[in-house]
Amino acid sequence: MVSAILLAAGSGSRMKSKTAKQFLEINGKPLLYYSLKIFDASVVDEIVLVTRGNDIDFVKNEIVKKYGFNKVRRIVAGGKERYDSVERGIKACDKRNKLIMIHDTARPFVTNFMILDSISTARRCKACTVAMPVKDTIKIVNDEGFGIETPDRRRVYQIQTPQTFDRETLVEAYHRMRISEDIQRGLAITDDTMIVERYLDIPSKMVEGSYQNIKVTTPEDLAVAEAFLARK
Ligand code: C5P
Repeated sequence: MVSAILLAAGSGSRMKSKTAKQFLEINGKPLLYYSLKIFDASVVDEIVLVTRGNDIDFVKNEIVKKYGFNKVRRIVAGGKERYDSVERGIKACDKRNKLIMIHDTARPFVTNFMILDSISTARRCKACTVAMPVKDTIKIVNDEGFGIETPDRRRVYQIQTPQTFDRETLVEAYHRMRISEDIQRGLAITDDTMIVERYLDIPSKMVEGSYQNIKVTTPEDLAVAEAFLARK
C-alpha cells in the first residue's frame, strides 16, 4: 500500500508573481492540477496534499472537489521549509502503508510510468528517486567563484521527483535529522534522498525520469511547460 505526499506549500518567490506558483494556470488549469490528475489515476492508495494553511479551503473546493480527485484523503498545512512540509505530510499518511512517495507539484509532467517504476524499485531498495543524467559539465566552485573541481559527468545526475521510500526508513531518517544540529548550523536540505543518505547511510536508486519532468520555478519555465502541453 502506497501513500503519496504532494507538495504545494512553497511561496514560489522565484516566480515573481502575486499568485502562488501552484495556482498559476497553464492551459487554463492550475499547475497543481496536473500532478493531482496523474497521481489520482495511478495505483497509489491515498494522496496527502500539503498546501499553505490559508489555501486549504481554496484547494479543497476549487481544485480537489471541482475536478473530482477522490484519492485525496487529507489536505494539511505545510511549514516554512520544504522538509517541514514533508514532515507534516508524513504525519498525515496512513501508518499502515508501507511506502511513501513524495512529489513536488511544481513538476506537472510526472508520468504514470515513473510512479510504477518508483514503487517497484522502492520495494527492493528502500529509497529511490526519479532522475536524469546531466547534459552539461558540472563544476564545484570556491567562495571566489573559481571552478576548482569537475566531477565525472557520467556519474552526475539531476534529481527530480517523485522520490519513494520505505515508510519506516523515512520516518527514522527524519527523526535523526531533527536530533542532529545540522539545520541550526545552516545545512541546506533540498530533497529527501539526501536525508536518508546522510542520516542512515542508505543510498537511493536512480529511476529513469525525463528531461520534460521540469520543475516550474521561474517565469520562463511556464512558457516551456505550455509548449510541452501543446505537443501532447
Ligand atoms: O522551493 P522549491 O521550488 O524547490 O519547492 C519544491 C516543491 O516543494 C514545490 O512543489 C513547493 O510547493 C514545495 N514546498 C513546500 N513547502 C515549502 C517549500 C516548498 O511544500 N516550505
